[in-house]
Amino acid sequence: MNILEAKIYESATTPIAIAPDLVIGGDKVVLMAGPCSVESYEQTRTVAETLYALGVPILRGGAFKPRTSPHSFQGLGVEGLKILHDVADEFGLLVITEALGVEHVPLVMEYADIIQIGSRNMQHFPLLWAVGETTKPVLLKRGFMSTVTEWLLAAEHIATRGNERIILCERGIRSFGTETRNTLDTNAIALAKLEAHWPVIGDPSHATGRADLVLPASRAGIAAGADGLLVEVHPHPAGALSDGGQSLTLPEFSQLVSQVGKIAQAMGRSL
Ligand code: PEP
Ligand code: MN
Repeated sequence: MNILEAKIYESATTPIAIAPDLVIGGDKVVLMAGPCSVESYEQTRTVAETLYALGVPILRGGAFKPRTSPHSFQGLGVEGLKILHDVADEFGLLVITEALGVEHVPLVMEYADIIQIGSRNMQHFPLLWAVGETTKPVLLKRGFMSTVTEWLLAAEHIATRGNERIILCERGIRSFGTETRNTLDTNAIALAKLEAHWPVIGDPSHATGRADLVLPASRAGIAAGADGLLVEVHPHPAGALSDGGQSLTLPEFSQLVSQVGKIAQAMGRSL
């Protein structure tokens, strides 16, 4: 692309249909939000009610959690999947949740609309092949120590098995600073949009690890060309069983939606 002629936002992305009335990678920026972990029916329902009120179409939540420590909360498992499914059904939302291993793929297929592959699993090839053999959209997080090339090749592992409905997700990479959990690589968002035809979204929650940085990181992600965001939201972040420090309260999330809408508009897009 000749950058002297480029418009503020130009995209060669092939939009992916998630539902009859929802595409990712088109003119509209798509938000996905919810708790890091599904902890209870009430917690999940409270978040879903807010998403519905704000017009956010996709509910996130982990049922199988890839925790660094085996002593941390590991997720509710199948019970968590059922909660996500029931609550999403009530509000007409779609569900994204992580398949931590090959054995989870059929279960996640049953209860969710998008299968999430976590950062730690970006090069778990048997898992990539397993989701590649399904017909569900797959969100592939970038490994926190992986190059953009490795990330795109991991996506090709999925695509070569027949599933082209891939959404790339930049969730921050490990760097030398200790002030933030990771570093949001906005270069990678822009580069992946140039190098691949899959939609690219940003995860400002894991990229920063700090709730007070999630709004600026979200604005930056959309300004870099992201097709959407995956955001952690909790009714009471201080009591969260995982990632409370990076989770937004419901009013903070409402702020995010309004700010991201303005950035999207400045980019010639909408929410
Ligand atoms: C998550 O989305 O809750 C998660 C575990 O993310 P990541 O794989 O990016 O660490
Ligand atoms: Mn998390």
